[in-house]
Amino acid sequence: MIVCQDLRPQPPPEADEESDAPPTPARSALMGRVRGKNTTPEMVVRRAAHRLGLRFRIHRRDMPGTPDMVLRKHRLVIFVHGCFWHRHEGCRRCTTPKTRAEFWREKFRRNVERDHRHVDALRKRGWNVLIIWECETKNPRELDVLLIEATTDPTS
Ligand SMILES: [Zn+2]
Repeated sequence: MIVCQDLRPQPPPEADEESDAPPTPARSALMGRVRGKNTTPEMVVRRAAHRLGLRFRIHRRDMPGTPDMVLRKHRLVIFVHGCFWHRHEGCRRCTTPKTRAEFWREKFRRNVERDHRHVDALRKRGWNVLIIWECETKNPRELDVLLIEATTDPTS
């Protein structure tokens, strides 16, 4: 059980690729800086994987969804998902802004649909897919367990 900590009132500053969010100056500044890749949660996962001695490639554009990490040896791809943008169900970060709620619902719906499409496509190609949620990167021990379980062959 992982509890979300570090809760700030505003959406996390992780923008999705082709974001068409309301253009407020603050948002533009944030999105210009991060563009959805190399976010803090992602860096946390990379560091944990390194520490565990896992070998991986990042941001393979030739694979569906440009997975954040690809561990070929384990036939495993990892996506590190922001709880807000990718809709982590039941998570405290998975809020919906009160203004333009309809716009947001539609945007979230498309995000989730796209995520599912990518996961399906990868699984059809024989990849295991691990989704690590932003909130799960807050607890180093839980994160290690996720990574170890995903890279341990249950038959060996
Ligand atoms: Zn979450």
